[in-house]
Amino acid sequence: MNQFQYARPSKQKTAIEAIAKDPNAQFIAGGTNLIDLMKRGVMAPEKLIDINRLPLRKIEKENNGVRIGALALNSVVAEDKLILERHPLLAQALKSGASAQLRNMATVGGNMMQRTRCPYFYDTAMPCNKREPGTGCGAMEGFNRMHAIFGFSDKCIAVNPSDMNVALVALDASVLVAGPKGERRIPFIEFHRLPGDNPEVHTNLQKGELILSVDIPDGPYTKHVHYLKVRERASFAFALVSVAAALDIDGSTIKSARLAMGGVAHKPWRLTEAEKTLVGKPVSEASFQQAAEVAMRGAKAFEHNAFKLILGPNSIVQALKTAAGIA
Ligand code: SF4
Repeated sequence: MNQFQYARPSKQKTAIEAIAKDPNAQFIAGGTNLIDLMKRGVMAPEKLIDINRLPLRKIEKENNGVRIGALALNSVVAEDKLILERHPLLAQALKSGASAQLRNMATVGGNMMQRTRCPYFYDTAMPCNKREPGTGCGAMEGFNRMHAIFGFSDKCIAVNPSDMNVALVALDASVLVAGPKGERRIPFIEFHRLPGDNPEVHTNLQKGELILSVDIPDGPYTKHVHYLKVRERASFAFALVSVAAALDIDGSTIKSARLAMGGVAHKPWRLTEAEKTLVGKPVSEASFQQAAEVAMRGAKAFEHNAFKLILGPNSIVQALKTAAGIA
């Protein structure tokens, strides 16, 4: 690991100034991903700005919704009374992510910022456009079992590894950030980006910006929700495919739906068209099959991940059935 400087400001302004004046500085909170990346030589920041002293840990009611501070721990959010009452889908997604030990260290902001788990990204002997632009993509013709089926480019086919992000994009969350020019709000669906020609850029956060909170509007998705994660071992693994499903049901009719997938794209993948097909439909396996078919339009597999073209729709149907209580 390279040597680096370390600062631990207690004021937001000082933290933002420190990062803005040093192009090779990085914020650190739980460090559950960044320290691994530094040990492996994938990232080598010259300065770490430890933000753990900033007052960003609260989970509170805020203007018709819930505000979750960027430094709230994943384990705390998953068990928080307000979250369990109003956003149980988020609690389920958080509990399915990582291990108990990691959830006790990892913050909400850090979870959003975590990097892909593409093995070529972590192996500095291999080509990777995300780690080193212009070197090529090892996964494209290599082992691509975990990789994308939506939204990839000819530069990168990696996926976003987070479970929490899938629930947040389904729940229409937004992200409040602060930078040298002041505060701004980013819809969660626009926070992460597709790889395009610049896979090294994984979010739309600008240099020097600090995540302050994630805000989730109140909605009707408190009862009929389910986060389904399909992975290779139940104890601790990233999703092959995951589905966040939320339904608002009146009698036996679907009033509205929220649906997103994980493990399939460079960003959490919201399924807006599939959501629309569910509105006004009866709660039935046939309705869910139709939504799954719409959801999978445009999916394309690589050599080792064709199973996702089958696992994907099956997971959508299963998640919706469980959410609706007809599984
Ligand atoms: Fe790198 Fe992306 Fe290719 Fe993986 S898929 S090797 S992260 S460029």
